Amino acid sequence: MYAEFDYLSPSTAEELYALMEEKKNDYLLYAGGTDLLILLRAKKVYAKHVIDIKKIPGITGVQDEGEYISIGAATRLSDIESDPLIKQWASALSEAAAKVGSVQIRFKGTLGGNIQTASPAGDGLNAVYALDAEVGLLSRSGERRVPIAQYVLAPRKTAIQPGEVLYKIYIPKRAWSFQHFFKTGRRNALAISVVNGAMAIEADANGLVKDARIVLGAVAPTPIRIQAAERLIIGRKTGDIPLNEVTLVVQQGVRPISDLRASAQYRAYIAGISVKKQISAFTEGWKK
Ligand SMILES: Cc1cc2nc3c(=O)[nH]c(=O)nc-3n(C[C@H](O)[C@H](O)[C@H](O)COP(=O)(O)OP(=O)(O)OC[C@H]3O[C@@H](n4cnc5c(N)ncnc54)[C@H](O)[C@@H]3O)c2cc1C
Repeated sequence: MYAEFDYLSPSTAEELYALMEEKKNDYLLYAGGTDLLILLRAKKVYAKHVIDIKKIPGITGVQDEGEYISIGAATRLSDIESDPLIKQWASALSEAAAKVGSVQIRFKGTLGGNIQTASPAGDGLNAVYALDAEVGLLSRSGERRVPIAQYVLAPRKTAIQPGEVLYKIYIPKRAWSFQHFFKTGRRNALAISVVNGAMAIEADANGLVKDARIVLGAVAPTPIRIQAAERLIIGRKTGDIPLNEVTLVVQQGVRPISDLRASAQYRAYIAGISVKKQISAFTEGWKK
C-alpha cells in the first residue's frame, strides 16, 4: 500500500518552478514511475507531493542541435530504442534502451528516470556515460549543463539541486567507428545487469585507434571508465591490440561488490571478458 500523496501535473516550466518552490523539500519528481512507484510502495521514499514532469514543453523528444543531439529527459525508452537520430549518433544507447526490463517497462520508463535513479547497473546511464553525454538541468535560473561523469555521485545520488529538473541529455555527434552496449544478467530477459557497459572506438582509415571509451556498470558505485585499458588501445592498429593485457587491466580496474546477483570475483571476470569480446568484434568488423 502507498502512503497518501497528491499527484500534480504542471503543464509549463513556470508552473513546475512554482510547485517546487511551494512544496520545498516535500515533493518527488515523477516521469514513468517504474522506479519511483516501487520505492513509494515499499515506503523507502516518501513525499506529500508527487510532481509529474511529462507535460513540460521540450522534456520529451529527440532533436538535432548541430554538434549535439538532445534527448528530452522524459523520452520513453521505447522511443529511444527506435529513434533514427539516436541510431545514427548513439547506437549504443538504442541498444541499451532495448535491453531495459520488458516492453511494458520500456513503454513507461524514461532515460531521465534511468539516469536520475543513478543505479550502478542502469543500462541507459552506462551507455550515455560512454558517449560523453552532458545533462541539462532546468530551473528558474535557466539551464545548467553538467558532464555526466560529474553528475552521478553515488548510487541514487546525483548533483541535481532543489528546484532543478533533469531536462535534456546532450550527446556529442562523434564519428565513432564502433560503439556497442553489452549486458550480462542472470537470465536473458527482464534482468538487472550483473555487469553492463558500453564501448566506443574511433579509428582512422588505416585501422589506427585514435580514441576509445570503455565504461562498465554494476562493478563500482557509479559507472566506471577504465582509462588504463583505453590507453592500451589508443595508438595501436586494430590487429595489434593486446587483448589479454586489456582484459587483465579491466579486471583489476573494476571495484565490484558481491550481492544476491553475483560475487565480486564473477563480476570482475565478466567485465574483462566482455571488453575483450567487444574489441574482438570491432577488430573483426574492421577486416571486412
Ligand atoms: C520490472 C523492472 C525491470 C527493470 N529492468 C531494468 C533494466 O533491465 N535496466 C535498467 O537500467 N533499469 C531497469 N528497471 C528500472 C527502471 O525501469 C528504469 O531505471 C527507468 O528508466 C526509470 O525511468 P522512469 O521514468 O520510470 O523513472 P521514475 O520511476 O519516474 O523516476 C526515477 C527517479 O528519477 C527521478 N526523476 C525522474 N525523472 C526526472 C527528471 N526529469 N528530473 C529529475 N528527477 C527525475 C524520480 O524522482 C525518481 O527518483 C526496471 C524496473 C522494473 C520495475
